[in-house]
Amino acid sequence: MQIRLQELATMPDYRARFDYTIDLSQEEVGFEFPFQQPVRLEGEVSDDAGAITLSATVYAHVTTRCARCGKPVEYDKETDVEFLLVKELEGEEEDLRDDVYLVESDVVELDDILIPELILDMEMAVVCDEDCKGLCPKCGQNLNQGECGCVVKEVDPRLAVLQKFLDSTK
Ligand SMILES: [Zn+2]
Ligand SMILES: [Zn+2]
Repeated sequence: MQIRLQELATMPDYRARFDYTIDLSQEEVGFEFPFQQPVRLEGEVSDDAGAITLSATVYAHVTTRCARCGKPVEYDKETDVEFLLVKELEGEEEDLRDDVYLVESDVVELDDILIPELILDMEMAVVCDEDCKGLCPKCGQNLNQGECGCVVKEVDPRLAVLQKFLDSTK
């Protein structure tokens, strides 16, 4: 959705409210397509005596997999976004504060600002349970469903060479 900054001056309280959903089902994040349900973008752009602020919340239902065992995991998340929208920078580009967003024209494309913020906010490794035991590195058995009986030794890398030697002499 687009907002025209010039039009803010004509709006009640100098603010434009928005609340809409967007289909991000084709958006890939970490080899998954986490947004199987529409993502909701809600908030407002306000002009407070020339200081233009974008304040929004992105609501997403995330469908992903446990990083340890691969079981499907679903959860709701909310990402709050707040930016001061500026048309030009006073200092150098490198000085851009992280709460300032440089807009290139009078037309602000909300999706282009808010969706990257949602992606940045995505959890890297979600687990189905803090105590998830994961899969056996040897046979692939889901260890939450019981022990497989494999002997998995944690071998010190410095001793691994020795271990290899001992195995070869058996
Ligand atoms: Zn798990
Ligand atoms: Zn096993």
